[in-house]
This record gives sequence, structure tokens and C-alpha cells, in this order.
Amino acid sequence: MSEPITIVGGGLAGLTLGIGLLQRGVPVAVWEAGHYPRHRVCGEFISGRGQDALARLGLLKAIENAGTRLARSAAFFAGKVSVPPRPLPQPALCISRFVLDKLLADEFQSLGGELKAGERWRGSDGAGIVRASGRRVEPVVDGYRWIGLKVHARNVLPSADMELHFVPSGYVGLCRLPGDTVNICGMFRSKSTFPELSKNWRQWLIGPEGSALHVRLAGAQFDEDTFCTVAGLDTRPQKATTLTGCCIGDALTMIPPMTGNGMSMAFESAELAVEPLVEYSRVHLAWPQAQRQIAVACDHRFSGRLRWAGWLQRFLFLPRARTALILLTARSEGVSRALFNLTR
Ligand SMILES: Cc1cc2nc3c(=O)[nH]c(=O)nc-3n(C[C@H](O)[C@H](O)[C@H](O)COP(=O)(O)OP(=O)(O)OC[C@H]3O[C@@H](n4cnc5c(N)ncnc54)[C@H](O)[C@@H]3O)c2cc1C
Repeated sequence: MSEPITIVGGGLAGLTLGIGLLQRGVPVAVWEAGHYPRHRVCGEFISGRGQDALARLGLLKAIENAGTRLARSAAFFAGKVSVPPRPLPQPALCISRFVLDKLLADEFQSLGGELKAGERWRGSDGAGIVRASGRRVEPVVDGYRWIGLKVHARNVLPSADMELHFVPSGYVGLCRLPGDTVNICGMFRSKSTFPELSKNWRQWLIGPEGSALHVRLAGAQFDEDTFCTVAGLDTRPQKATTLTGCCIGDALTMIPPMTGNGMSMAFESAELAVEPLVEYSRVHLAWPQAQRQIAVACDHRFSGRLRWAGWLQRFLFLPRARTALILLTARSEGVSRALFNLTR
């Protein structure tokens, strides 16, 4: 006998979990409000232990074959200070979300999963229901509204595979994708609303005149079809063991995007959920115990990196502290290596 699992949300966490369960013979349905393929606001930079989770689930090769680029170096810019290109302690995998989400959706279906695309789940939490429905929406956090913007462009030549630029109201990452495409993705905060973003998005993404970002993007040819935006971001950490439902990925908690670790957390939390859900499905484990095992495993895995990432994001929004940290990082490779390791 196999109890079925229902997954709410066909993003990275939901589809990865669905694939992991189907591989173990568990019947799964994924409800996804949107359609595939689609562009998502994302730096498209997969960094951290999620790459190993993908390898263990047998997905890494297919993803690499679909069109990835390895990011081996990173550079950081803030006003007049910068950290020149440095090797990353561990290479990141860069892939368009347009390609990645579709690949996982196809894999899920090819394994016999039921994908209800274009259907929004309106039910409540309960036995056999996993929430992989993405970030919680919070219009205002500590007095600020937070948004994310992303667009692909050509004719951009970053000095490293990934550049992170700090601007007065946020940060913008440039990530080299396969071919000559560069993903440009930013997260911004404001005490008031962001008027007419559909018209003004370039102003946000290209940075203030005279900045390294502005210079870098001077000749950028934006692919407007890839532009997307997301609002109501909230990166305050949540503990899985305090939530009522069974949650993975951003539905559990969202790590500050500057770490490039959110996708990794989606893959890792999906992998951590597989075994307890298999045991529940085989009626070896009651639902509350399965949910508890997943929550404890996720909190154990993520709480340290969430603490460091939250601290780092707060620090980098204080102009003097940011300058000091960038200068320190420029002088010491050990500092950048330590921050990298602590946030993934
Ligand atoms: C500005 C920005 C930059 C980022 N950059 C990076 C980066 O460089 N590297 C990185 O690793 N991460 C990055 N991230 C984070 C990363 O995008 C997320 O962590 C990741 O997408 C989380 O995957 P998920 O499956 O949990 O959620 P999602 O990918 O958001 O998927 C959730 C899905 O659930 C669906 N859904 C929601 N409610 C329902 C419902 N009721 N019924 C049916 N479907 C529903 C939604 O349509 C959506 O498709 C960034 C995020 C932002 C905002």
C-alpha cells in the first residue's frame, strides 16, 4: 500500500521532491499555479551543497547537458571600493530558470508524476500535503518594501563569472550564462512604493551614473522578453519546527539572495524530505512524525547558514560597514572564503 503525496508548488523544491519520491515508487501529484517554461526572478547561480543533492538524485548530468556554465570566479563592487576577481571556493552552476524549471517538470512527468500545471491549490495543510509554494509574501518588512528584478542581456563583459554590485538601495548580480548571455538580477528596498516598475526597471538595474555597474552595463542589449519582477520579499529566517504545515524550499524560509544559496536550499530540503515521506507513504510512519523528521532535519541543516546570511545582509546595507567589509575582503582571501563557507 502507498499513500499518495500532494505537493503544492512546482518550482525547484516541489519538482525535485516529486522526482525523488517517484524514484522510490511513491505516487505524487504536483499542483502548479503557473505554466512552463517561464522566466523567474533569480540570480541563476547555484552555489553550495544543492549540487551534491542533485547528483545523488541523478539529476545533475541532465541539468549540465541542458546548458549550464560553471562560475569559477567572483568580483565585488561597492562605490569606489572593489574586490578584484577571485576564484570561488567551490564553482557554482549557472543556468537559466527558463530551462531548469522546464527540465525538472519534464523529468517529473516522464517518471509518471501527475503535474497539474495552471492549477492553484486552495486546500489546507494535512496528512500527505507538502508546501513547496515559494516565498511567503510580506509587503513591508522593518519599514521597507523589498523587490527583485531580473533580465537577460547581451553585450555585457563582466570581469568575473559572477559580479556582485552594491548600490545605495540594494544589490545587483551579473552572472554569465551559456553563450554570450548574462543574467542581471537585483534585489532592492525602499520605504515607499516602486512606481511604474514596468517602465523604470532599467534605472534600478543599471545603477547610479558613474558606478562600476553603470559602466559595465553601458552597452547592454536587454532581452525584454526575459524581464520579470517579484515583490513582497521577506528574508527573515523561519524555523521549520515552528510551522504548522510541512514546508520545503522558500515556503520554509528564504535565505538572502546575495548568497546564491536559495536554489541549493530548495534542492537540499527536497532531498531531506524524501525518506520520511517514503516511510509515511508505506505506512511505516504516521504523518506528524514524518513532518517532524523533515522539519528537524531542515532546521539542523539550515539554521547556521541562515544566521550568517542574515547578519551579512544587514551589515552590507550599512554603507560604512559595507565599505569596511569589502576592503577587508579585498585584503584577505581568508575572509571571503570564510563568509562563503558560513553562508552555505
Ligand atoms: C532577487 C533574487 C535573486 C535570487 N538569486 C538566486 C541565486 O542566484 N541563486 C540561488 O540559489 N537562489 C537565488 N534566489 C532564490 C531562489 O530563486 C529561490 O530560493 C528558489 O526559487 C526557491 O524555489 P522554490 O521551489 O522553493 O520556490 P519557487 O521557485 O518560487 O516555486 C514555488 C512555486 O509554487 C507555485 N505556487 C505557489 N502557491 C501555489 C498554490 N497555492 N498552488 C499551486 N502552485 C502554487 C508558484 O507558482 C511557484 O511556481 C533568488 C531570489 C531572488 C528573489
